[in-house]
Amino acid sequence: MELIFERSHVGRGCSVLPACDVPAYDVPESLCRKSAPMLPEIAEVDLGRHYTQLAKQTHGVNDGFYPLGSCTMKYNPRVNEEMAALPGFTKIHPLQPVETAQGCLEVLARAESTLSEITGMDRVTLQPAAGAHGEYTGLLLIRAYHLSRGDTARTKIIVPDSAHGTNPASATMCGYTVVSVPSDADGCVDLDGLRAAVGPDTAGLMLTNPNTVGLFDKNILEITQIVHDAGGLCYYDGANLNAVMGVVRPGDMGFDCVHLNLHKTFSTPHGGGGPGSGPVGCKAFLAPFLPGPVVVKKDGQYDLQMPEQTVGRVRTFYGNFLVVVKALTYILTLGKEGIPEASTGAVLNANYLMHQLEGHYDMAYHGPCMHEFVMTLETLKKETGVSAMDVAKRLIDFGIHPPTMYFPLIVHEALMVEPTETESRETLDHAAQVFLEILQEARKDPESLHEAPHNAPIGRPDEVGAARHPVLRYTPVEA
Ligand SMILES: *Cc1c(COP(=O)(O)O)cnc(C)c1O
Repeated sequence: MELIFERSHVGRGCSVLPACDVPAYDVPESLCRKSAPMLPEIAEVDLGRHYTQLAKQTHGVNDGFYPLGSCTMKYNPRVNEEMAALPGFTKIHPLQPVETAQGCLEVLARAESTLSEITGMDRVTLQPAAGAHGEYTGLLLIRAYHLSRGDTARTKIIVPDSAHGTNPASATMCGYTVVSVPSDADGCVDLDGLRAAVGPDTAGLMLTNPNTVGLFDKNILEITQIVHDAGGLCYYDGANLNAVMGVVRPGDMGFDCVHLNLHKTFSTPHGGGGPGSGPVGCKAFLAPFLPGPVVVKKDGQYDLQMPEQTVGRVRTFYGNFLVVVKALTYILTLGKEGIPEASTGAVLNANYLMHQLEGHYDMAYHGPCMHEFVMTLETLKKETGVSAMDVAKRLIDFGIHPPTMYFPLIVHEALMVEPTETESRETLDHAAQVFLEILQEARKDPESLHEAPHNAPIGRPDEVGAARHPVLRYTPVEA
């Protein structure tokens, strides 16, 4: 497919600007560029077709099954978009006087109260723009709490090796030293390892639950107790609350703060870099440190206020407001009965697919999973040379997006599959059939799998090269 620069034709173009309705301003010579920018010139219809053609080459949740583990690529109901497009939400300025923005503030307040109820927390900030940003914000609260008590010795954050990769990164960004604790053979936190790791230097623990191998830690109450006994606080990575929302609450399991990914669990679209939203919930004793402003209600009116000992703003204004509108729509549409039904559906679908593949593909852990499961293709690779990458790439030929590959790091040749609750039994049956077909191919004709996908716009890009030496700029061919 041609690049837009290659479709460019001098003198073509489709910009139609309205007449200038402000006084002209003479830009000083020193600020003016010396030569015209090289912008593509293309007719409006061709421009539209160019992007449509590009869009057709990508695979999204609307195109087919997208079992990307940990990312929760599920159906995003259109009604969410309709609500977020209401002019009362889109034609508003963040600096408008609060008395003219009461409806928007009510959305923030209701989102806060429903998310507090779902997580078992007392307050929620909607400012963080993504999950990792939420982790960082939660850790700022933990740090502010210890420092407010004059406790400066707590410099370490404990992170189990089954945590999401962003956890140690966020702790490091927050100035903490990361202490890793191992998992036991069941994939849960090793309690003796945890006991040995905690001490007067423990600021807190970050637990991803369900963890990155798709398991709910059966010792969760003991884990939070051990950390609290040592004077540390407990942080719950709730990015994958899809497995447990409406069934159990981090606040009831002994956690002091939690982040959620609205762009996973609460069905707001993601991929391609945004926009996301990673609200952070906390217990009342951490609330004075929350980023601000927060929404408060006084005499029947909503207002904005900075919490007393706030860690400051973590983002401009109030976060990705329209993402919050979509998530609130989703929550209100499902209601108290629908929320737990969504998570039990996610767990059921994951177990259903896992059972169809068990005995053919090796599972990394045995027993029921939560919303996702991890397979290990180590033996298949030894026997046939076919890797997790080969199988994942071959799925593309069947219209299925690859599962998460080579993650978590503690499982070799890992494929992590998350079907989500929004897939029908027919889709799951079809996916299982495709997985089994690929397994047959691996035994019969392993060579062909190294070249897969065979029918996609591109085959095997040099992924390492693309990451290390990205070419982000078009270099024109001299005429
Ligand atoms: C996706 C995810 C994150 C990070 O969320 P981003 O919005 O990508 O920053 C953190 N933890 C877990 C468990 C996740 O699945």
